[in-house]
Amino acid sequence: MDTYCVRCGAPTGEGDHAACRARVAYDPPRYCPGCARRMVVQVSPSGWSARCSAHGEVAGNAQELV
Ligand SMILES: [Zn+2]
Ligand SMILES: [Zn+2]
Repeated sequence: MDTYCVRCGAPTGEGDHAACRARVAYDPPRYCPGCARRMVVQVSPSGWSARCSAHGEVAGNAQELV
């Protein structure tokens, strides 16, 4: 489930995503790590949740998704 970068949507095996990782430490992810679809992100007082139309909801620590 971490084929794609949740920040830029590019394959994690290509390029350098260090800046993306730093960014998702405090921003919700934007792309599904499994299919790179753009996710619907909802920010709440307790955190955030992101939903992929194919894989469902992703929530929690965004750093673990990169
Ligand atoms: Zn990236
Ligand atoms: Zn997906």
